[in-house]
Amino acid sequence: MGKLYIVGIGPGSKEQRTIKAQEVLEKANVIIGYNTYLRLISDVLNGKKEVIGARMKEEIFRANTAIEKALEDNNNVALVSSGDPQIYGMAGLVFDIIAKKKIDLEVEVIPGVTAALAAAAKLGSPLSLDFVVISLSDLLIPADEILKKVTKASEGDFTIVFYNLINKKLLLQSMEIVSKHRKPDTPVGIVKSAYRDEEKVIITTLSSWKEHLEEIGMTTTMIIGNSLTYRYKNYMITPRGYERKYNL
Ligand code: SAH
Repeated sequence: MGKLYIVGIGPGSKEQRTIKAQEVLEKANVIIGYNTYLRLISDVLNGKKEVIGARMKEEIFRANTAIEKALEDNNNVALVSSGDPQIYGMAGLVFDIIAKKKIDLEVEVIPGVTAALAAAAKLGSPLSLDFVVISLSDLLIPADEILKKVTKASEGDFTIVFYNLINKKLLLQSMEIVSKHRKPDTPVGIVKSAYRDEEKVIITTLSSWKEHLEEIGMTTTMIIGNSLTYRYKNYMITPRGYERKYNL
């Protein structure tokens, strides 16, 4: 029996991949992933490997194919996710399938730099206190459940990271909820394609983020500050709390 690795490749550029991810990708004889991600790892897709691409909506196909390939003799299969495989990636689906079907297979998750952390790094230090990550995709989770989570995160004064900004209506509704709980000048970071060629980094506010609506899409992550977050030059900063105890 082979082994299935679910590999997080980080946000984009090779430098953001972990050494372990690189090793696993080089060693794998089967690599499976969404076509865009395969393009990001073209450096490891040399001739010796079987490379299976798939389009966005074919997640279940990718997961099943990876499992089947790994069950074949001695295959080292790498199923690729962008960022980290747990965070709205392929890991949950693969484990779910093997658990439901009671499949005996060795699976190892290789963690990666998730979009929240990549975007945060581009903005400065917006995640230095407690934060919440919410996917605004209602393809699998109903919109009312998502909005309930947005409400609770806003009430709790967590810094909020939004992934999967594919539904503009849901984004507008979510930002309206956040605006009820935070000051209009609360910093909002918009990071598009972090660590990729088309990268764009914007720092705006809760009252004027809509001016950048056309920048927001499939590869954008948004970070909304908590009540303490402030902007200094081109940095978005959430204080860790030292100033409550020490004189900085
Ligand atoms: N597993 C991935 C997330 C997959 S969901 C991870 O851990 O990062 C896809 C969403 O991730 C996108 O809609 C976008 O919100 C975010 N994302 C992925 N790559 C990104 C990048 N390079 N820059 C900004 N956001 C990104």
